[in-house]
Amino acid sequence: MKIKNFDVIIIGGSYSGLAAGMALGRALIQVLIIDSGYPCNRQTPYSHNFLTHDGRTPSEIAKLGKKQVQMYKTVSFLDGQAISGKKTDTGFEIGLASGATFFARKLIFATGIKDVLTDIEGLASCWGISVLHCPYCHGYEVRNKKTGILGNGESAYDLSRLISNWTNNLTLFTNGPSTLTARQTEQLGKVGIVIVEQQIQKLDHIDGKLQDIVFKEGTRSSLSAIYAPAPFIQHCQILESLGCALTDEGYIKIDLSLQTTIEGVFACGDNATRMRTVSNAVAMGTSAGIAVSKKMIMEEFDLQQDYK
Ligand SMILES: Cc1cc2nc3c(=O)[nH]c(=O)nc-3n(C[C@H](O)[C@H](O)[C@H](O)COP(=O)(O)OP(=O)(O)OC[C@H]3O[C@@H](n4cnc5c(N)ncnc54)[C@H](O)[C@@H]3O)c2cc1C
Repeated sequence: MKIKNFDVIIIGGSYSGLAAGMALGRALIQVLIIDSGYPCNRQTPYSHNFLTHDGRTPSEIAKLGKKQVQMYKTVSFLDGQAISGKKTDTGFEIGLASGATFFARKLIFATGIKDVLTDIEGLASCWGISVLHCPYCHGYEVRNKKTGILGNGESAYDLSRLISNWTNNLTLFTNGPSTLTARQTEQLGKVGIVIVEQQIQKLDHIDGKLQDIVFKEGTRSSLSAIYAPAPFIQHCQILESLGCALTDEGYIKIDLSLQTTIEGVFACGDNATRMRTVSNAVAMGTSAGIAVSKKMIMEEFDLQQDYK
């Protein structure tokens, strides 16, 4: 089987991968971007807080990015899923679900993360629409509305403090006995944040727009939106098989040049940072593209000197 060669393979062709591809393509590096088409914000109707793109749909931003990147003849784009990765003496071999194999000297993971949503009926359908992960992305649109927070303990207390900036009509749903301290409960009470401990049966919604929280005992509470931060896993398992270390929080460990713990393997975007925004994913992608291209250009220059 013939293996096609590139200078760099980028796994993940959403905001971060596209930005990395643009920086590399403009540096005359031959790049292959492989993307399986599942960005984490795909269900959200409008994306906010990205200067010049505020209020566009997530796919509009991605489509425009892809169109601009594809203008560069140095960049190839492939729809598909990378399923295996192997380090060789000179670089990396990446296998796709289709059976195709590609080789590159350097590798960039721009693979994002996968949210592991709480298993409550209706929640997944509302994710990104009225079940929210971040006030900086969607808080303005539901300002002053009747809003909930799904969570418990220290993190829910902190999130309640934060969200109280956007609305004073706020309820914390602990979905079982509260684990907040007496002091935290008192502090939230002082600013009118109600704590509801009843167990949740489901979220009633119309096309993802939250109507009511329905409790197991049969009562319900109407709401416009609820913040429900979710734990996550890495979207792509190849980085583990290559030996890239993760942080305690589960992000890919990177240095200042965005290189992982494996020489020649880089990471950018959501998979390597807590700062989860489209603008930051783009910024990291650009940085990774520049870092990788500079490294390759310098290596190539030195190699040519050795032969002279
Ligand atoms: C519901 C929701 C709403 C959001 N709203 C906003 C907002 O309004 N404003 C804002 O700034 N940010 C928002 N964000 C955050 C923003 O979406 C992310 O920060 C951004 O998408 C990260 O970009 P990324 O390229 O790192 O990862 P992603 O956009 O998640 O893309 C990763 C890509 O890698 C691909 N991939 C993964 N594994 C493989 C593989 N093995 N082979 C091939 N391809 C692979 C995936 O299919 C996907 O296309 C939101 C996030 C969520 C979850």
